[in-house]
Amino acid sequence: MVAFHILTLFPEMVMQGLSASILGRAAKSGCISIETVNIRDYTLDKHGKVDDYTYGGGAGMLMQAQPVYDAYQSVAGRIGQERAHRVVYLTPQGKTFCQEMAQEMAQESDLIFLCGHYEGIDERVLEEIVTDEVSIGDYVLTGGELPAMVMIDAIARLVPGVLHNGESAQTESFGDGLLEYPQYSRPEVWHEKRVPEILLSGDHAKVDAWRLEQSLQRTKERRPDLYAKYQEAHAVEKK
Ligand code: SAM
Repeated sequence: MVAFHILTLFPEMVMQGLSASILGRAAKSGCISIETVNIRDYTLDKHGKVDDYTYGGGAGMLMQAQPVYDAYQSVAGRIGQERAHRVVYLTPQGKTFCQEMAQEMAQESDLIFLCGHYEGIDERVLEEIVTDEVSIGDYVLTGGELPAMVMIDAIARLVPGVLHNGESAQTESFGDGLLEYPQYSRPEVWHEKRVPEILLSGDHAKVDAWRLEQSLQRTKERRPDLYAKYQEAHAVEKK
């Protein structure tokens, strides 16, 4: 069971995205829990302001330290000191998110996600509360909500019980360092294209060998970086 806590200025956006389909079902069954905390609810500003100009000048507004810190404290207080928690700040300046990170985070009991907006967040509060800075790629989005949703989706599907077919996360792309092989469903012929004969043979060993071969070929063509890593790891294993 992993509890996801999302500190955001746009809770409805996050909840809409995460309460449907597989994650919605997983939350209902208790494999995961998802809560949003509206940072604006914690501002001490009487007009509900959470952002201000940046010192030194420059375009755009910055989220202020106080509401972010108090929103974080409210969650940390509820989690309690006996349960460890990580605080992930979504930022284009962070380490790039990957499947390995998702696997590692799926072992945690509580993950707090901090979503920035506008120009970002006052550095001082980040220094105090953040344990991990994570980016979802080398591009800049308007806010951390979509990156948080991407991360939560990738992490949650690795939590035991979330996917009904326990195998599928293992055999998918990146599970073993390779991209997944091509897949086909009914009918056997579509637009004059036949499903590869071997998949209809019922010979599981041959099917597995064909799939591995396809995975290797695909990874070599599409992701030579992953292929090189895979080859290196397997060469080491064979020694
Ligand atoms: N001024 C920041 C910079 O140049 O690094 C960018 C701020 S961005 C417009 C606003 C917020 O969106 C960030 O605080 C962050 O939470 C989120 N964000 C934008 N791009 C992201 C990315 N690639 N990965 C993760 N979070 C991102």
